[in-house]
Amino acid sequence: MKKSFYDLNFSDLETVINQNNLNGSAAAVLFNWHYKKKENAQCNDNIAKSSLAFFEENFDFSLPEINTVYESKKDRSVKFLFKLKDNHKIETVLIPFHNKYSICLSSQVGCAMNCSFCFTGEQGLKRNLTTSEIVGQFLQAWRWLATNRPGEERILNIVFMGQGEPLHNFDAVKKACEIFLSQHGTSIGVQKITISTAGYIPGLKRWSQEIPGVNLALSLHSPFEEKRNELIPINKKYPLDEVLTYIDKIPLNKKQFITYEYILIKDFNDSSVDAKKLGTILADKRAYINLIPFNSFPGSRYEPPELDSIEQFKAVLDTFRIPTLIRSAKGDDVLAACGQLNSKNQSNYSE
Ligand code: SAH
Repeated sequence: MKKSFYDLNFSDLETVINQNNLNGSAAAVLFNWHYKKKENAQCNDNIAKSSLAFFEENFDFSLPEINTVYESKKDRSVKFLFKLKDNHKIETVLIPFHNKYSICLSSQVGCAMNCSFCFTGEQGLKRNLTTSEIVGQFLQAWRWLATNRPGEERILNIVFMGQGEPLHNFDAVKKACEIFLSQHGTSIGVQKITISTAGYIPGLKRWSQEIPGVNLALSLHSPFEEKRNELIPINKKYPLDEVLTYIDKIPLNKKQFITYEYILIKDFNDSSVDAKKLGTILADKRAYINLIPFNSFPGSRYEPPELDSIEQFKAVLDTFRIPTLIRSAKGDDVLAACGQLNSKNQSNYSE
């Protein structure tokens, strides 16, 4: 089987070109063509026919196939169900902000973390995504916007908050980030990419060393180890205390903050005792808090909090002077909100 062109970062592409004695300028031409063009077409730019023939013969230029598109009536979020070559399916979400979008990418088919509040966890882990499958989600969504919402094809932020644990699939996620960041690639600013993790310490180590500047979000969800064990089983192996200590040691650049995500679950972690403890452990850190009211899904065992308790929780955090945002549930009418992605439960799933 041919290797995917979209698995190559820029320096991989340069290596291929050197090893095959092709004209060096082809690297920039090809990258520009494939990552900056809104339509999916064969390169016919300033490139030697022989180089083009070499790539056509040796590389696969196909992208994940869009199986179904779900457009939210409520807020213009868009959820894509993609079909991969081996028939596995994954989901990607475009989240609108004033005619621009953030994209929420998946990093694995399913997930091994098995968090008790997350729909994806129920699928188990099927396999890691390749770099081309990650980058392909972006390219397909971007091109869909160009065709279906012309003038709105601006994706400003990339968040690895879809299906999967991105730090569990570090090599492919790292290479995708390199393509997103490359000035010849999609040329996205490093501060516009965020990787979200349940707290997988070996992956955190690699993140801090290998892709510094890419933002980190930690799914915290409870400041108490016992409760966090119940929500995020990997906490038993890598307890919150160790994760936070590890993160504290990582040098951040001037404008960099760590985002701490906190799902508010009714009568479980939404009391003022929880809020005070959370405030205490984060008070002297470079922290933003994202409060995410629990999003329910078919068969979920938890409930969303009352509106009052969300506001009271935030009020407690305000006394600690930690910048806190309450995240609205965009796209929940098409099961596109956080934790609602589960490509196995799509009616047209086939394995
Ligand atoms: N594995 C990574 C990224 C995927 S989850 C991680 O754990 O961070 C992305 C975010 O959605 C996480 O903060 C996760 O905790 C949150 N999430 C999962 N299920 C949710 C649900 N039912 N309601 C609200 N947020 C949820």
